Amino acid sequence: MPFSEPTNAQATSREGELRALRLLLPIGAAVVLLISAWEHANGVVSWWDRYLYPLLVTVFAVGGLTLWRWPQYQGAVRLVSVVTVNLYLMAVLLMVLFIGDAPLNQYTLLTTLVWLPFGYGLIFVMLAARPAMFISFIVALLTFTPIFVAMAFNLRPNWGQEFTTTMPVLALSQVVYIVLLLAISDLRASFHRASARLQVAQELALSDALTGVGNRRALQEHLRAGLSVAERGHVPTSIILMDIDHFKPINDNHGHSGGDQVLVQMAQLLSDQLRASDRLGRWGGEEFMVVAQATPMHAALELAERIRKAVAAFEFAHGDPVTLSLGVTQTLPGDTADSLVHRADKALYRAKNNGRNRVEAQTVITAH
Ligand code: GH3
Ligand code: MG
Ligand code: MG
Repeated sequence: MPFSEPTNAQATSREGELRALRLLLPIGAAVVLLISAWEHANGVVSWWDRYLYPLLVTVFAVGGLTLWRWPQYQGAVRLVSVVTVNLYLMAVLLMVLFIGDAPLNQYTLLTTLVWLPFGYGLIFVMLAARPAMFISFIVALLTFTPIFVAMAFNLRPNWGQEFTTTMPVLALSQVVYIVLLLAISDLRASFHRASARLQVAQELALSDALTGVGNRRALQEHLRAGLSVAERGHVPTSIILMDIDHFKPINDNHGHSGGDQVLVQMAQLLSDQLRASDRLGRWGGEEFMVVAQATPMHAALELAERIRKAVAAFEFAHGDPVTLSLGVTQTLPGDTADSLVHRADKALYRAKNNGRNRVEAQTVITAH
């Protein structure tokens, strides 16, 4: 498998939002249920809420359930939740103003208004920062304009003075909520941008610029990981060190860029031969290495032989045949990355000496 997997910070951020929504929606359902019980018990439930509370509970509960079972419908759940909450809030306010049963007006109006920030929150979860701010302000405007109209023309004479003096303060607090959400949303966006950049930087630091496979530093990390897996699991890790045979003449006959092209094609060809758990990297120059975790020697030898044959049979773009010499070894007790590579190097050296285009193994510890 090539070293660099495509990464997607956007996907990570949507994962985080999915987790938030999975909690938010069931909590929303429970809260509406509690409010509904409270209002029923105190006899202050309005006639429309008798119908709309069950509707809200259903939308939140079904939405929450959908996100747990079928997260791929996240977009639809978000849309339905946002539209439902905001339409509910505005519809209730309009009914309070124009159809409301007088004694309940102030209670219903206030207890609806306190949920407006929840509506904004959902909008900000669903949309990008700027459009979310814009739509939230429209919701606030549509909500408060009729209230101030009703106050200006004294359409609701039962509204007490304390109640009406609360309204400008409440209206102002909406601006604070929305601006705060905008700031949080901007922070979140710049955090995602920064972590995406960090991911790219990390990948670049560990990948070979020419071939795109892991570089020596990445291989050294894989060697360390392979050694600790072998130590813990008592299953050896094997490595295959490979060197292109007679690479110098390729450079001489086809130019440096011709040689580069062989290296690029070789990296692709090698990664096509590997299993998902094998780590490939460019050790340097025209040398590549595979670190095969939890793989005993005999399996690594089979893999090396398969690679050797595939390379020998491959038609490279420059037209001449290319072969590899391969040195294989497996971890032994007390190994370090250096001692492991040293044995693979010995094996490779023998493969070269014994005529190239061949696989050699080294299992015993030899003097450095
Ligand atoms: P052998 O079969 O013994 O391995 O012979 P060889 O010619 O492959 O070995 P040698 O080590 O003498 O030559 C390696 C050549 O690889 C020398 C160097 O110029 C070339 N080389 C190293 N890195 C690159 C690279 O990034 N691009 C290109 N085009 N050539 C490179
Ligand atoms: Mg070499
Ligand atoms: Mg060579």
